[in-house]
Amino acid sequence: MKKNIQQSLEQLGYRKTLTRTMILNALESYNRPVSVEDLVEKCKDLNLTTIYRNLHVLEENGLIRSMQFTSKAKHYVIAEQDETKHFHYIRCLECEKVEQIDFCVLEKIKTSTNFTIVNHSMEFTGYCPDCSQVDSKN
Ligand SMILES: [Zn+2]
Ligand SMILES: [Zn+2]
Repeated sequence: MKKNIQQSLEQLGYRKTLTRTMILNALESYNRPVSVEDLVEKCKDLNLTTIYRNLHVLEENGLIRSMQFTSKAKHYVIAEQDETKHFHYIRCLECEKVEQIDFCVLEKIKTSTNFTIVNHSMEFTGYCPDCSQVDSKN
């Protein structure tokens, strides 16, 4: 587990329970937003209720961030501790695969509008290479 996550857990006065450590490790192991089903798959020893309860606690305390993709259940990622480093995502409308985009146009928009931007969200949807191929064959 990344040092900063571990430190945040401690700062919040958390007991580093096995459950929370397992969930955070699982989230970290995926390089994309993770659904509760993904977590069930990865943390076979945990039941759904336990996972939901701990996700809630972790989110309340800002250690993880949830996002709601249109028509999809919530997905979770480890919260970026460094504001300047954050990600956006692109989701396939066919197979629902999600990929991380690790650059952002935020700085460009800041300079071109002179706004003090406090929040932004971007979601991209489309068809992944696999699904576009299937489409063109049909
Ligand atoms: Zn796809
Ligand atoms: Zn951004």
